[in-house]
Amino acid sequence: MRELKMLGFWRSKNEPFLPDPAKFIDDLWDKKERLMVFKYLKSAQILSASPGSSWCRFRCKKKYVGSVTYTDGMYVWPEGLSHYIDVHFLRLPDEFIQHVIRNEKSHLGPPYDEIIFNKDWWINQKGWNDSESFLTPGFCGELWLRLPAVSISQEVIKFLRSFHYFSAKSTRETLEVLKSEGRILISEEIAYCDFYDIHEKAAKLGIQVDYVEVE
Ligand SMILES: [Zn+2]
Repeated sequence: MRELKMLGFWRSKNEPFLPDPAKFIDDLWDKKERLMVFKYLKSAQILSASPGSSWCRFRCKKKYVGSVTYTDGMYVWPEGLSHYIDVHFLRLPDEFIQHVIRNEKSHLGPPYDEIIFNKDWWINQKGWNDSESFLTPGFCGELWLRLPAVSISQEVIKFLRSFHYFSAKSTRETLEVLKSEGRILISEEIAYCDFYDIHEKAAKLGIQVDYVEVE
């Protein structure tokens, strides 16, 4: 069994106990050291890939910051961590920087199922600022429903009511729309990282939705 220390997993509405990246900003951090840590984070071993993509807690233009996790045999971090260092000038805890300087990495081989992610060290990192980032992703896309809906059920109607277009429609009106032809815009405010779940849920219900990114 191998235990890996979690690093750079940021808080969100679902995981409010995780550290806030805004607390780690340090734009005076030595440039050479920053570049060295950045390169280290980018060049490690890929451990796993997750289906969804992570979003930037600062809601910058780069909405999706990656979906794989990296490891150096001792720490494990999300792909997006290097983005925070590069674009938002985050400095990581000194313990990790020293570890990078000492270049203590080792290669992990299978079986990966014997790996444990330990979050104890990471959730106790407080950073050095008072600032706060966002808990929820920015709204950045449109959700379109393909018509006519192949499947119509109470569940489908209930699911669709959670989107703006259907929220105030009666069941009769909803049924009429579902039998019509074409494509309708059902929400203008969907974060891309939520789309995967919505798409999956819709597919299970037998309906099809598309995402259109809005700049
Ligand atoms: Zn960003």
